[in-house]
Amino acid sequence: MRELGISVLDELIGQLARLPGIGQKTAQRLAIFILKSSDGYAQELAQAILNVKQKTRLCKRCFNVAEDELCAICSDPRRDTHKICVVEDIVDVLAIEETHTYRGLYHVLGGVISPLAGVNPEDLNIRSLIERVKNEPIEEVILALNPSTEAETTIIYITKLLKDMEVQISRLASGVPMGAHLEYLDGATIGMAIQSRQKISKDT
Ligand SMILES: [Zn+2]
Repeated sequence: MRELGISVLDELIGQLARLPGIGQKTAQRLAIFILKSSDGYAQELAQAILNVKQKTRLCKRCFNVAEDELCAICSDPRRDTHKICVVEDIVDVLAIEETHTYRGLYHVLGGVISPLAGVNPEDLNIRSLIERVKNEPIEEVILALNPSTEAETTIIYITKLLKDMEVQISRLASGVPMGAHLEYLDGATIGMAIQSRQKISKDT
């Protein structure tokens, strides 16, 4: 990709292109937009970026992003404290919150077990999850990990640790996405959907 020869602009394009999902073309478009925008907007954008780094930390209970010791979810008295939804990353908390279907608490693992990538159980927030199940009135642990072989390993590992505890363990249903056609799905997805099929209630 040709550089514009204006070092400060090329620097901004280079930094924007490092963002996930942003290619060189989009980075150029964004940089030109910022260049043409008002001083006020550029100032607010730069400050917002700095704030998100300087004024946030990880929740000491669930490792979600927080402005105080506890995140907004952990400190909300309306949440159901009997359920923990275990996710890989903060972005998964956002995805589940957007559905407005879950009112329990979370626990962010910070990844999944992957010996090939050098990620071992002690690198993840697994010990703290087990401590929470021991010390909080948890009745159900929902393992909401992104489907992968590493996630399977992680689910087996956590399930073993929770085996003797008085807690229900569940995982997300795998299956056919809304709007999909069976003929275009891969065999593994169809196989999981058949295995995790649900009974249809005849009661109306
Ligand atoms: Zn929290």
